[in-house]
Amino acid sequence: MSWEVHEPIKRPCPCGKGHYAVIGRSDDWNRFDEHWDMQCPACHAEYVLYTLDYTRKGMTATYRGWVPSNVLRELEAAMAAVEEARKQLSSYAIAALGARWTAHFAGKAKKTVWHELTENGKHYPSLGTFYRHVADSGMARVLEGYFDPRELPTVIRILGPSASELTERMAEVARLEREMDAQDSRARQQAFS
Ligand SMILES: [Zn+2]
Repeated sequence: MSWEVHEPIKRPCPCGKGHYAVIGRSDDWNRFDEHWDMQCPACHAEYVLYTLDYTRKGMTATYRGWVPSNVLRELEAAMAAVEEARKQLSSYAIAALGARWTAHFAGKAKKTVWHELTENGKHYPSLGTFYRHVADSGMARVLEGYFDPRELPTVIRILGPSASELTERMAEVARLEREMDAQDSRARQQAFS
C-alpha cells in the first residue's frame, strides 16, 4: 500500500532558461500520480499550474500545463460567475414556481408523477430508479431536485410557458457557461507542458 516516489524528471520551463520537475509516484495497486514543481524563479512568478481531471474510456486522467497566472484568474472568475448564476437561477425558480410545482403533483400516484417527469420513460430515471430515489429521500426532495438548473427544462415543460422570465434567466446562465468554456479552451491552448 505504500507509495514509491520516482526520480524527478526535469523538463524545460516556459521561458526556456530553467526547468520544472515532474515528481511521479506509484503504489502496489498500479495507481500513479504526479506533482509538478516549477523550479525557475522567473516562471514561478509568472505561471501557475492548470489541472483538469477528465474521463476517457472509463479511466480518470489529469491534464496539466503551465498557464500565465492572469489567464487562470480569468478562468476562475468565469467559473465563479457560472456557479453564482446557477445558484440564483435555482433560487429564483423555487420562489417563482416552487408552490405550483408541489401543487401540480399533490395527491398523484408515484407512477403518474414518474410518467410526467420522464415523458413516459423517455428520460432518466427509469421507474425503478425513481422509486428508489423516492424511498431514499422522499417525494418532496425528489421534486425539489428539478430546480437544479440542468433539470429546469422539465419544470417548464410541465408547468407551461408562463415561466418565460425563467427561460431568459436560463439563457443567461447558458451564455455564461459558453464564456467559461471559451476561457477554458483559451487556457488550455496557452498551456505549456
Ligand atoms: Zn523559466
